[in-house]
Amino acid sequence: MILETFAVGPLQCNCTIMGDEEAGEAIVIDPGDEVDRIQRRLTELGLMLKQILVTHAHIDHVGGALKLKRLTGAPIYLNENDLPLLDMMASQAAWLRTATPETAPPDENLTDGLVVGLERYPALVLHTPGHTQGSICLHFAPLKMVIAGDTLFAGSIGRTDLPGGSFNQIIDSIHSRLLALPDETRVLPGHGPATSIGAERKTNPFLHMQ
Ligand SMILES: [Zn+2]
Repeated sequence: MILETFAVGPLQCNCTIMGDEEAGEAIVIDPGDEVDRIQRRLTELGLMLKQILVTHAHIDHVGGALKLKRLTGAPIYLNENDLPLLDMMASQAAWLRTATPETAPPDENLTDGLVVGLERYPALVLHTPGHTQGSICLHFAPLKMVIAGDTLFAGSIGRTDLPGGSFNQIIDSIHSRLLALPDETRVLPGHGPATSIGAERKTNPFLHMQ
């Protein structure tokens, strides 16, 4: 298995390439920016892109999705509860003082319970609203790994002061969906370093407020 995570764009969103070298196939999660770099890496690895998975529709995570789709033909998956945020791309770009990336509605709704990813490395979609209404996490159970988007970070949680955010909801999502996973589950957050469910369960200050 190929698993490469690297930070892209001014907000340093963690973009992940997961590939199956035998099948010659890959998925990309959160191509927020630097699409040429992502595309170059896929070519270097000799992988055909099958799915573009977006954890939520903030500009730093979704900004490059349509460009990557145009370059590769891969469909975009996004939870439809984030469609209002997709429509707000111009204001999102204005907050960051960057150009507005072109976006389009997703090809598939990344709905709770859907199984996505590669045949040998499937992921279950966990709908975890709170950071945004359409925020999702991807649980790769056989790999003991979860891609957490901006729901859970090492020692922190996603901000809830932007449109569609809810503090009570994100806390509830983390407790009911993410902390339900085994302690050894590796967590790849949308920004910053990797962690584990066990480490966050023990030490994350936001998870001991209730
Ligand atoms: Zn975000």
